[in-house]
Amino acid sequence: MKNNAAPYRILDPDNCAMCGMCLNHCPTYKISNNESESPRGRISIIHGLNASLLEPSESALKHINSCTLCLACESACPAKVDFYGLITKARDRYFKKQKVTFKLKSLLISIFLTNKLSKKILSKLFYILEEASIMNLGFYNHKRNFVNKHAKHDINKAKDKIGIFAGCASDIFQKNVANDCIEVLQKNGLESEIIQNVECCGSLDFNSGRIKKGLEYNQHANSEFCSGKYEKIIGYASGCSSFINKKSNTKIYQDATSFILDLIENKRNEFKITKKNICIHKPCTSKSAEIDFKKLIDILKIIPNLNIFTFEDNYCCGAGAQNLIHNSENSINIIKPKIDFIKSNNIDLILTYNIGCSLNFINSININNMKQVEVKHPITFLNERLK
Ligand code: SF4
Ligand code: SF4
Repeated sequence: MKNNAAPYRILDPDNCAMCGMCLNHCPTYKISNNESESPRGRISIIHGLNASLLEPSESALKHINSCTLCLACESACPAKVDFYGLITKARDRYFKKQKVTFKLKSLLISIFLTNKLSKKILSKLFYILEEASIMNLGFYNHKRNFVNKHAKHDINKAKDKIGIFAGCASDIFQKNVANDCIEVLQKNGLESEIIQNVECCGSLDFNSGRIKKGLEYNQHANSEFCSGKYEKIIGYASGCSSFINKKSNTKIYQDATSFILDLIENKRNEFKITKKNICIHKPCTSKSAEIDFKKLIDILKIIPNLNIFTFEDNYCCGAGAQNLIHNSENSINIIKPKIDFIKSNNIDLILTYNIGCSLNFINSININNMKQVEVKHPITFLNERLK
């Protein structure tokens, strides 16, 4: 007998079975208990929009925008729904229908963070405002993290040429980490320099609804990385590493934290005694950036007297995909259990290798008046502790 039933399309990215197994992994569903703020709800909205059953209204699009792209739902989904593809394509398709303020913010962020001159101006401006205490920037008041200049090294003398990719936001807010990378590599006998002509990996635009622009940046970055100037390219923003790994498929690139952990693991460096309560945060990008979180903890355990904590709450911190800019209330609510954990365990220092997470932590630390708590990139911490 002929079977006319449509075959069940296993592994089809659009094939959500509505089972709900992703729901309890989603940070926006956790804080709202609202189906529209869940992965399954978002899939229904996207299907409704694509089938013209729903208008791309502000109320429909806000649920697409509030997704942090943490991809916890993708890992939990038995049908292997390609959530990253679904959300980024929906954001791109309906970008023109977004609120004017959303479009304006997205465009301004892109312009300011992907242009060398504007990055320089922003960096200087933030530094001056903080130094003069004219303005509490709220999301960033850790002055020590502002280093106006990247360290300069004569790469032509180098045996192993390692190019350091600073990324866009990290190039403004974590310039010091690039210098720390150089120093850690030097302590291990490797020479490196900061790549000067790549401003963005493309994830900024790609993830916020401008796929074409994001791919242009990605292609430019890729051709520079593969130009033969360097033996290896390392980038210290895990969001960039995650995107580059997804889109570029190049073996020359490795996340800088991952590279440095391999280096330190093999060389067995010695560390200074450090009496601190530190909490290590695992960003959602760890898996796709190929950073071995356990290896980081194992290496930090070598540091004498260090008291190491990890967060009990495994949810995304809430900053991803520009949510800290567009939906800051969500970011503050999502990160709250982590802030409570920091308070109740007297944490002195948080380590995280994602720039969005760093800014989210700093924002909530400021709001909660916990300015004694520092936030650092693990590479900076390792460099400071390395003898
Ligand atoms: S990517 Fe994260 S925030 Fe977005 S729907 Fe999935 S679990 Fe929720
Ligand atoms: S786990 Fe996958 S199949 Fe189940 S509701 Fe979520 S997205 Fe759909």
